[in-house]
Amino acid sequence: MSESTLSIGVLMPEVLGTYGDTGNAIVLKERACRRGIQAEIVQVGLNDAIPEGLDLYSLGGGEDTAQAVAAQKLRADSGLVKAVEAGRPLLAICASLQVLGHWYRDATGQRVEGLGILDITTDPQGQRAIGELATEPLIKGLTQPLTGFENHGGGTLLGPEAQPLGRVIAGVGNGTPKGATPVAQAIDGAVQGSIIATYMHGPVLARNPELADLLLARATGMELAPLNVPGVAELREERLGAAGA
Ligand code: GLN
Repeated sequence: MSESTLSIGVLMPEVLGTYGDTGNAIVLKERACRRGIQAEIVQVGLNDAIPEGLDLYSLGGGEDTAQAVAAQKLRADSGLVKAVEAGRPLLAICASLQVLGHWYRDATGQRVEGLGILDITTDPQGQRAIGELATEPLIKGLTQPLTGFENHGGGTLLGPEAQPLGRVIAGVGNGTPKGATPVAQAIDGAVQGSIIATYMHGPVLARNPELADLLLARATGMELAPLNVPGVAELREERLGAAGA
């Protein structure tokens, strides 16, 4: 943590904030504050410069048109790339996952250049993946099933530099671009360096406190004491049940 207050950036919520994804920052702030760690949310709008020195970054999902606007902004402003190069944790959801890749093609087939900080590419799947998504986590530090809601047309392929976040138990996850050979085991998300990206909305951190705490631990460098938030266990049970997981 750079200062005494943990700074949590929410980038371009005007265009990247579907399904309450901006709530991820609220969860991070709240879980920090309840442990006595001072935290603040820094909203970075479309017309603001992206600060490279925040402690933690959160990027949400977006529809195709909004997503292209966000991609253009992120290509023009090097702040986020510098922050990731410096190892600052970044959570990216759905459209943002796609934008952080080398490129993506939207529903109309238009190819949009991404940031290339995730070794992934995205093409339309041919049909939208909509519904509950549940996965078994594949990264160190996570032991509990992940639960979220997905709604995306894109299917994402991982290159060798990117690792999946989870193995799909229910739902689609990264899916398969139309015409590509389906992978033997369905996976969700992409993890590379300090980036954790997933197709899960929810907001994902409200549903998966373990993931929120992993990001907080990385951002603060602290070992965090367990935190019991009433209702979260019931929410998880209900949503994982709804997914049939
Ligand atoms: N527009 C992208 C897609 O449909 C991402 C959607 C989202 O962020 N929910 O694939």
